[in-house]
Amino acid sequence: MRALLEVRDLGVRFRTRGGRILRALDGISFDLDAGETLGVVGESGCGKSTLARVLVGLVRPAAGRATLAGNPPRPRDIQLVFQNPLASLDPRMTVARIIAEPLQGLAPKLSRRDLRVRVAAMLERVGLGDAYLDRYPHELSGGQCQRVALARALIAEPRVLVCDEAVSALDVSIRGQIVDLIAGVQRESGLAVLFIAHDLAITRRISHRVLVMYLGRIMELGDSESLYMHPRHPYTRALLAAVPIADPVRARTRRAPVEGEPPSPLTPPSGCVFRTRCPYAIARCAAEVPLLRPFDGSLVACHRAEDIAAADPAARLEGGRSGVL
Ligand code: SF4
Repeated sequence: MRALLEVRDLGVRFRTRGGRILRALDGISFDLDAGETLGVVGESGCGKSTLARVLVGLVRPAAGRATLAGNPPRPRDIQLVFQNPLASLDPRMTVARIIAEPLQGLAPKLSRRDLRVRVAAMLERVGLGDAYLDRYPHELSGGQCQRVALARALIAEPRVLVCDEAVSALDVSIRGQIVDLIAGVQRESGLAVLFIAHDLAITRRISHRVLVMYLGRIMELGDSESLYMHPRHPYTRALLAAVPIADPVRARTRRAPVEGEPPSPLTPPSGCVFRTRCPYAIARCAAEVPLLRPFDGSLVACHRAEDIAAADPAARLEGGRSGVL
């Protein structure tokens, strides 16, 4: 059966002021089903936010395409929630106007009364009562602002919600509440969610599958539980090794996180883009780009996935589904 969202060979290039070409995304392909959450993780600068912006039409791809149920998506079909809740809301508008604005564009004949009823119902849905209708963003907490941003995104009844670091600026306890809220809306509506985050623990909590990006390319894509317990790509292993764990004994015995900074996307390494930081790199890694290929139930872009799994089969991550790993 066809996936709801199909992304194929997406490529984005930016030209710098000096005329150099920066490849922000390269050959990105994945599917997203209705009712599914795909987590997208990677260090900053890996292309996560560019991917979000392409999907909602804010950035034009240089190559590839995204289709929704086989057709080009309409703007209302894919909605975006940004990281900074206060900055993403117009400070001069009341909560009611902020949420109503996209609906007014979609249903211009809706009466003022019906509009307010719809907005109040959506506000209720995101856990804020109608007492918040006439408040301004500066009167709200960060978590309340993000609930309003979510209500504004959901009022258009999108089929895909893209959360670009949508909980990163919130306190840990509020993060959990917003993630649970998104999961609840998803269960009721069959919404597909692309959940972009650098917090691997919270991504694990909400995602059915996880996509790992590095320097604009996919390194690994697989079922969430399997990827967290048995990371196959050296970069996924390194990312997970950097997540804090509460147990000091386990913390002492785990492998080292990846060292150094990613190379500049203006001068990416030849072959495998991760090779300059990879402890398993061999000559072939500099000469040949590893294709994303099936391995052990996941898709992995690594020439040596089999060797690495055989040499270090205990690369499993312990821990529960929430909190630190
Ligand atoms: Fe490391 Fe080579 Fe695999 Fe890249 S292809 S992750 S450099 S072993």
